[in-house]
Amino acid sequence: MVIAGAGMAGVQTAVALREEGWAGRIVLLGAEPHRPYDRPPLSKAVLLGKTDDPSFDVDFAALGVELHLGRRATGLRTGERLLLTDAGPVPYDHLVIATGAEPRTLPGTEHLAAEPAAGRGGPGLHLLRTLDDAERLRPLLAERRDVVVVGAGWIGAEFATAAREAGCAVTVVEAAGHPLAGVLPPEVATRLAGWYRDSGAELLTGTTVVGVDGAGLLVSSGGGRPTRLTADAVLVGIGARPATDWLAGSGIELAEDGSVRADRWLRASAEEVYAVGDCASFPSARYGERLLVHHWDNALQGPRTVAANVVGSGRPDFTGAVYDPVPYFWSEQFGRFVQYAGHHTAGDRLLWRGDPAGAAWSVCWLRDGVLVALLAVGRPRDLAQGRKLIERAAEIDPERAADASVPLKSA
Ligand code: FAD
Repeated sequence: MVIAGAGMAGVQTAVALREEGWAGRIVLLGAEPHRPYDRPPLSKAVLLGKTDDPSFDVDFAALGVELHLGRRATGLRTGERLLLTDAGPVPYDHLVIATGAEPRTLPGTEHLAAEPAAGRGGPGLHLLRTLDDAERLRPLLAERRDVVVVGAGWIGAEFATAAREAGCAVTVVEAAGHPLAGVLPPEVATRLAGWYRDSGAELLTGTTVVGVDGAGLLVSSGGGRPTRLTADAVLVGIGARPATDWLAGSGIELAEDGSVRADRWLRASAEEVYAVGDCASFPSARYGERLLVHHWDNALQGPRTVAANVVGSGRPDFTGAVYDPVPYFWSEQFGRFVQYAGHHTAGDRLLWRGDPAGAAWSVCWLRDGVLVALLAVGRPRDLAQGRKLIERAAEIDPERAADASVPLKSA
């Protein structure tokens, strides 16, 4: 068994294989030099210096996992069952692609983001995906530098939260009319705008970056004349794309978004090749569409399906373990614990549960009376109960669901 990518999904695949009783060799390759680590703490405790060791509590030697760090997969020859790497080819019987995602940067600034602040006079342009990124950003927060954040998504919000907590002046530039525009409808997302302002961050919505130079960013609102935003550092948080460029020419089928097109058993389009985590999309029968999920829980659950299928495929009666989860994620921003379960679309009916001006409230999405998604702000019990209802595709009474004093499980 060879696993390409030693992040959450790669490590969990190794762990799950042993749990399933896989007795063969496991070779785990990771491009980064660090002991495998967890990413959520990077934008939280690591940035603020509350921890500098987010590594996984996994004893690889005891599990019999051969860890090759600082080793990058560069290509794949499926006919010969050969993974190509920067240190030579690695033969496999089974391969799991778990190379995750890489952050997008502003067009034309790829070289700046690759070498943040390296001896240039202007503000350093930073991304936040790796431990090295977080370690470069940490001193800027400790020194209370002025920062500009591009993008009011999950990473932008968490970075702005940490930077404000550290005492930095923070300006957030967002092209859409409100934060998390791709994820939440305007009536919900406008509530989040207030969180930025209450924290003391300046949020500029409807504003796009039109240029980057030594002194800062040039931004334009509503197509007007560009104005200059100066800063000591710029954090670009405009999303991530699957890290699958290395599969070019391999014959592994990719979706338009760059993800490996896995099937419902998380198999890629070649014999004995699986794909899991941030790099892979899968068809969800539950939601009737292909999903690409860039969240931690998906990198925990998917590997269990892969391991069950790899180990089970040796049994004659095995029919395959299907991957069709209720997606789940959380975010910690501006002193709030935000959780989301499920998947909603614009046509779903939206119900408020509690007062969105208050500290704790939820939003439910219903399709034909069935709960399909839930956003909980400071209401973890709603999330726990709602997630189970979503899993069961339970019908709920909209009036009772809208009454925050009624437990969701009784709605
Ligand atoms: P990754 O974690 O990206 O791991 C892939 C690994 O593969 C990387 O180490 C990479 O270096 C390596 N790799 C890439 N290409 C190659 C190659 N060619 N050869 C070998 N190795 C390669 N999710 C939540 O639900 N809640 C949160 O609060 C949250 N916070 C987050 C905060 C930050 C700062 C970030 C970046 C992400 C956060 N996430 C959060 C998302 C979550 O961390 C990811 O969904 C999860 O890490 C995905 O795991 P993965 O193993 O698929 O990918």
